Amino acid sequence: MAEPLLSIRGLEVTFRGTGRPVPAVRGIDLDVAADEVLGIVGESGSGKSVTSLAMTGLLPSTAVVGGSIRIGGVEVTGADPEVLRQMRGRDVGMIFQDPTTSLNPVLPIGRQVTEGQVAHGLLRPAEASGRAVELLAEVDIPDPAGRALQFPHQFSGGMRQRAVIAMAMAGRPRLIIADEPTTALDVTVQAQVLTLLRRRQAATGAAVILITHDLGVIAETAHRVVVMYAGKIVEAAPVAEIFARPRHPYTVGLLKSLPRLDQDTRRLVSIQGQPPTPGAIPSGCAFHPRCPIGAARERCRSEEPRLRAAGPEGIAACHFTDEIEGLLAPPPEAGGSASAPRAAPAEPLLVVDSLKVHFPIRRGLLRRQTGLVRAVDGVSLEVRAGETLGLVGESGCGKTTTGRAIMGLIEQRRRHRLRRL
Ligand code: SF4
Repeated sequence: MAEPLLSIRGLEVTFRGTGRPVPAVRGIDLDVAADEVLGIVGESGSGKSVTSLAMTGLLPSTAVVGGSIRIGGVEVTGADPEVLRQMRGRDVGMIFQDPTTSLNPVLPIGRQVTEGQVAHGLLRPAEASGRAVELLAEVDIPDPAGRALQFPHQFSGGMRQRAVIAMAMAGRPRLIIADEPTTALDVTVQAQVLTLLRRRQAATGAAVILITHDLGVIAETAHRVVVMYAGKIVEAAPVAEIFARPRHPYTVGLLKSLPRLDQDTRRLVSIQGQPPTPGAIPSGCAFHPRCPIGAARERCRSEEPRLRAAGPEGIAACHFTDEIEGLLAPPPEAGGSASAPRAAPAEPLLVVDSLKVHFPIRRGLLRRQTGLVRAVDGVSLEVRAGETLGLVGESGCGKTTTGRAIMGLIEQRRRHRLRRL
């Protein structure tokens, strides 16, 4: 078997400050093959982002790192800072959650996209502007020549993330680490960015580690999934296997909390309790206080489960993997069976009738009105007691302005009609 591009063995990351040491990653082993897309999922505090920062040598000085991380055969743990600097951008590209923090606000986008290549000697300065336009075109930025001269604040959130993807892939790195790359984006822009990421991954043949709390993103993008909890891997399997037949109660809980269009579920099921803080990890199985199987079992409270084979190609860390079947049944619907008659609709609590919010455009010294922005233009809706109404749409569609108008945070014009009971 070919050597994996990324190989992690016994990785441990502990933060040391003035108080007790805080273990954030507690011994993980992981391999990623060249051109593989690996998804890492888990709640906040599970250790997935700390693992990615350890791979790139970006942890703060308070972190103590143990174990081994090899990228392309080169040891990263304990490496000289200059070796890590050479590796970032050339061998490893990074995409973070908020593109605004990845971009320098005072430099044109085009210059930033190729800056890494020039710094690594992969591109001559004279070629940089032409290459920047090519890279922006590859990530579907319209008018790339004009946009290359613009600054980050002149790009939308989705375009900024595309520019960051162009920047991360400019040097054709062998490994891309994308940490929550779509979390800050609208749903439709998220789909575009994921499609782009998949397309660029296929074109460059890079391996991708996709870190997210969103299993929907994983289902669309990854070949294989690793589930982390309390600083450890609790399950790993090919994506189809994990969605069809999860082997760990925590993975079952994550899957059940996903909204499903193909099931008649009227309420989402959340995992009870909160994930432990790194400084207060429960004894035995770290998941036992939240586990529907193990909460009452002595073995789960006292003995930490080890990762072992589970399913055709997966591994899971659970003493009672064979009992997962019972957790997979759909949850009972609120108030009884799904076919129970629903209560008669109550009187509306909120009535919005033909709401309009128009903002005047004023120009010149005398601030004369020269036009009108129709932020909301004739919206009507009703909300009844006990009802949850979802208001969705892309940025700029007027949903936030509607909410602000309902809260009385925007002066209402004469023709607006809004009734709150
Ligand atoms: Fe639940 Fe016990 Fe399995 Fe942990 S070992 S996941 S507590 S059943």
